[in-house]
Amino acid sequence: MEQLYRELEASVREYRPKDDLTALEKAYRFASKYHEGQVRNSGETYMAHPVMVAHILASMRMDLVAMQTGLLHDVVEDTSVTSEQVRKEFGDEVARCVDGVTKLTKLDGISAEDRHAESFRKMLLAMVEDIRVIMVKLADRMHNMRTLGYLSPERRERIARETIEIYAPIAHRLGMGKVRGELEDLAFQHLEPDSYQEILEAIESHRAANEEFLIEIRQQVEADLRREHIPARIEGRVKRPYSVFQKLKRQKISIDQVYDLMALRIITDSVKNCYAALGVIHNKWRPIPGRIKDFIAIPRPNLYQSLHTSVVTPHGHTFEVQIRTEEMHRIAEEGIAAHWKYKEGRRGPAADDQRIAWLRHLVEWQREVQDPGEFMSNLKVDLYPEEAYTFTPRGKVIVLPRDATPIDFAYAIHSDVGNTCVGAKVNGRIVPLRSSLRNGDIVEIMTQPGHEPSKDWLAYVKTTRARNKIRHVINASERIKAIDIGQKYLDKESRRLGVQLGRVTKADFERVSSEYGYSKIEDLYAALGYGKYSARQVLAKLAPGQVGEEQPEARPALPPDGASGGAPQQGAVQRGEGEGVIKVRGIDDLMVYRAKCCNPIRGDAIVGYVTRGKGVAVHSKMCPNVQSLMYDVERKIEVEWARSAEDTFQVRLIVHTDDRPGMLNHLTSVLYAENTNIRNLEAKTELDHDRAMVEMTVDVRDKKQLEKLVAAMRRISGVRDVERLFK
Ligand code: MN
Repeated sequence: MEQLYRELEASVREYRPKDDLTALEKAYRFASKYHEGQVRNSGETYMAHPVMVAHILASMRMDLVAMQTGLLHDVVEDTSVTSEQVRKEFGDEVARCVDGVTKLTKLDGISAEDRHAESFRKMLLAMVEDIRVIMVKLADRMHNMRTLGYLSPERRERIARETIEIYAPIAHRLGMGKVRGELEDLAFQHLEPDSYQEILEAIESHRAANEEFLIEIRQQVEADLRREHIPARIEGRVKRPYSVFQKLKRQKISIDQVYDLMALRIITDSVKNCYAALGVIHNKWRPIPGRIKDFIAIPRPNLYQSLHTSVVTPHGHTFEVQIRTEEMHRIAEEGIAAHWKYKEGRRGPAADDQRIAWLRHLVEWQREVQDPGEFMSNLKVDLYPEEAYTFTPRGKVIVLPRDATPIDFAYAIHSDVGNTCVGAKVNGRIVPLRSSLRNGDIVEIMTQPGHEPSKDWLAYVKTTRARNKIRHVINASERIKAIDIGQKYLDKESRRLGVQLGRVTKADFERVSSEYGYSKIEDLYAALGYGKYSARQVLAKLAPGQVGEEQPEARPALPPDGASGGAPQQGAVQRGEGEGVIKVRGIDDLMVYRAKCCNPIRGDAIVGYVTRGKGVAVHSKMCPNVQSLMYDVERKIEVEWARSAEDTFQVRLIVHTDDRPGMLNHLTSVLYAENTNIRNLEAKTELDHDRAMVEMTVDVRDKKQLEKLVAAMRRISGVRDVERLFK
C-alpha cells in the first residue's frame, strides 16, 4: 500500500513539482488509520480504493485539494470520522469537497425505476458547488467500475446501469471523452455481456486485417500530408465496443455489416490545416454524403471540436476520419479537466449553450492564472441557476423553480397530495410550508385526509400548477358556501315577505334560473350568496303574484337584515366604484364596492363582507362596523387591492392647527408639492380661540401617498395633528 501511495506522490510531483506534498501524505495516513481493518469485496485492503481514486485524479492532473478529497472521500460515509473532524484536520475546502462527495454517494442506489435519468443527472450537477467534487465522484465511480467483478450480479447490474445512465453522460457533458469512453465500455461489459463478447470477438477476429489496413492507410495519409506541408500526428484506432454497439442498434445492422470499425485521427497544428487535411482526404477517397460534420465551426455544447468524415476506399472499405488541432484533441479527451486555452468566444442561441457558459468563464479565467495547476481551485459552479432539483424519499426527482416551497412539491406529485398537505419534512426535519426548497432536498409531504388548502398558500407558492389547483379548490368551497348562504337568504326573505317557498315548484325554480342565464338551480343560489341579486328580485320572479317586481335599474334598497346585525347602511353606495380596484381573492365575477362607513383606500388592510343582494362590501379592517359584522363569520370573504394604478380615492382629512396667519397657504403649498388634487377645503376657527381646524377632501392614489402627505403637513410648524375621517 505504501508503495502505491509513493507512486501517487511521484506522479503528482511530475506535474506539480513545486507543491508541498505534506498535506497529501497526511490525508493518506489519516484515511489509512480509519479504514484500518476494512476489506473490499475483492479481498484487498480497503485503502487500495481511495489511493487508486487519487491515482485516477492524478492522471487528470487535478490539484492537491482534489487529491486529498480522493483519499478521504469515504471516511465520513464508511468510518467513525465526522465531517467536523475533517474540517479541523484539513481545512474548510477539503471538508466541503468531502461533504459534497458524501452527499452524491448517498444518492447512489436510489430506486432506479423511479428516477428519470435526465433530471437525476441535472440534479447531481446542480448539487455540485465545486467542480472538483464531480471529478472525485467520477474517479470513484471509475475505480468501482474497474473492480465491479467482485460484487453480486444484482449489485453489478445496478451500478453498471447507474454508470451508463448517470455518470457517463455527466463525463460527456463535461467534455471528458476518455472518462466517458471507459465508463461506457466497463458498464456495457456488465449490462450486455453477450453483445459485448460478440463485438469484442468481431473486432478481434479482424484485428490483424484491420491493423494491417490501418497501417497502410496511415502511411498513405502521412505521405499526402507531408507533400502538402501539413504537419500532423496520425492515430489509427479500432472503435470502442460500446460505440460499435450503439451503431449496430442505431442502424439496425449486424456486426458483419459494420465495415468501419476503424477510425483514423489526424491531429495537426491549426484550424486552417484541419480544413486543408480534410481536402487531402477527400481528394484521395470518396466521401460518403451526409457524413461530413464540421464541429469546428459549430462545436458541440460540451465544447467538443473536430471535423468528421467517412470515406470509401476503391475496395469498398469505409472508415471514419477525425481531424482536429492538438488543443481540440486535449479538450475532447479531458474536457473540463484539460488545461484550456480555448480561443474565441462563440455564441449559440440554445439554452444548453448558456448553461454551459460557465465553461467559457472557466476558460477566460484560466488565461489570467499564472500557474495552470491552480486552475481548478475555488471553482464554484451553478449549472442550472433557475431550477431546484429535489426528490421524494423514494428518489423520484422533482424539478421545481428556485425558491419553490413544499406546497409546490406536493402539487407536483399529485393534486390530492397538495390539497391534503398539512406539513412537510425536508431532509428528515419538519419545516414551515412556506420555506424554500434547495437542490438535493429530500422532501416528504405529510397529508391529512379531508384537509383543504389555505388561501395563504397563494401568497408563497411558486408554480402555476400549485396556484391553479389551490384556486380551484378555494373557488369550489367558496361556491359551496355561497350556495348555502343563497339558500338561507332566500328562505329568510321569503318568510319576511310571506312567500310560501314550499309551493314553488322545481320547474319554477328551473325557469327562473334559466331566466338569469343559469343551467342549474344551484348556480342561482350561488349568485344570491355572492350577492349578485337580491332575494326579493328572485322571489318576485318565483312568485309573481306575491312579491312586487322591482325596477330593473333600481338598486335594491333593502333594510338591513336583522340577523346580520350591523350590516352597513350604504344609503348612497356608488355602484361600480370598487369594481376593478378591488378584487375578491380567487373569485372573478363578484360585485364589489367600498363601504362608505370607512372608505378604505388602496393600501389599507381590507376585508370583504357578503351583503344581502348588493355584492361584497369592502371595509377597512379598522372599521368599527367590521367588529360587529364579523360574528357572521361565514359571510366574511377575502379581498385584495387589484393592480390597476390609475384610480384615486377621495379622503377626508381634518387638520388641527394653531390659529395663525398663512396656515392655509402652507397647507395648500404642501398639497401642491405632493401633487395632490384638492376637492374641497374649509377652515374653521374653533371656539377655543387660538386653535383652528381645516377640513379638506383630497384625491390620493393609495395609503402610501396619504401617509406621505400627512407627514408633510405635520412638519408644518403650527400643525398639531392630522386626522383621517372615515365617513
Ligand atoms: Mn468510494
